[in-house]
Amino acid sequence: MLDIRIEKTQNPKTLPEKDNPLVFGTIFTDHMFIMNYELGKGWFDPRIVPYQPIVLQPSAMVFHYGQEMFEGLKAYKTEDGRTLLFRPNKNWERVINTNRRICMPEIEEDVFVDAIKALVKIDEAWIPTKPGTSLYIRPFIIATDPFLGVRPSNTYQFIVILCPVGAYYPEGLNPVKIWIEDEYVRAVKGGLGEAKTGANYCASLKAQVKAHDEGYSQVLWLDGVERKYIEEVGAMNIFFKINGTIVTPVLNGSILPGITRKSVIELCELWGLPVEERKISVDELLDAAKSGALEEVFGTGTAAVISPVGHLRFEDTVFQVKDGGIGQISQKLYDTITGIQLGKLEDTLNWTVE
Ligand code: PMP
Repeated sequence: MLDIRIEKTQNPKTLPEKDNPLVFGTIFTDHMFIMNYELGKGWFDPRIVPYQPIVLQPSAMVFHYGQEMFEGLKAYKTEDGRTLLFRPNKNWERVINTNRRICMPEIEEDVFVDAIKALVKIDEAWIPTKPGTSLYIRPFIIATDPFLGVRPSNTYQFIVILCPVGAYYPEGLNPVKIWIEDEYVRAVKGGLGEAKTGANYCASLKAQVKAHDEGYSQVLWLDGVERKYIEEVGAMNIFFKINGTIVTPVLNGSILPGITRKSVIELCELWGLPVEERKISVDELLDAAKSGALEEVFGTGTAAVISPVGHLRFEDTVFQVKDGGIGQISQKLYDTITGIQLGKLEDTLNWTVE
């Protein structure tokens, strides 16, 4: 176990009221985890302290060249009072890949997972219990050298903060409208797309604003070279059911390897459905929509788990996916994954960690 110094808050905040909608990312718990790194010394002084501002030099490298990474996962409260994390070891694997890509020091699996467990335990009372709610966990690392040259930093801070979040779908799964973006791209092969780093999200803002202005909730990203192949949707991976086969873009270096994506593939294979990880072009998608072969479209990610897609727009054409409603597989995946996360279904795949 990681030896964590603990300084508890003297001024606990009032817990949100039961009917608070808990808008994503707006309310933070009483404590945070923080640990420092120095080249030659490694990670040191792991501590849990009251949630508070952090003090950095204006010259801190993170502000200038964006050397930062983050993760996102959730803790869930079961009906019998247990607290579960969903596959945190997979988040750690992604941390390692991200950190290697952006020249940050690695963190050991135990350190990453123990830090999260210890913090969630201290702020356990903040885990909401209404259906669909959870405690969102945001670990992140920032480059802190006070230096304006372009090189990897020699000092870092690893921080974890928590926020209670409301149900993504208060009234059940709700199909979204997707804008297929053919002007801006999120990431390119050889770039940062498969890393979970802020730059990718900054790159996505312009198209997201454009899509919102047009009345669409999410952007479907195409590849950065030919603007032909589908990559992912908003901050989710994307799946299609075409003639009975589950198809998702193959991880090509510019797509974030989602943990929900991995779980969906594993479940579909377990259920005996044919699954293909391959390139899929917009043309193939539009042809499948026209011929009626396109049976379901859904996004996958920690926030919504499964997000059915009802409509797609490419250039001036709007396509409806079947009746624009919720597909059978989308619903079954949602029920199964959330059932496991909440401890309502038996976790035969050993995905949850208490
Ligand atoms: N793609 C992007 C760009 C994302 O930000 C996310 C959310 N982390 C995902 C896909 C889905 O990943 P996960 O299933 O691990 O949440």
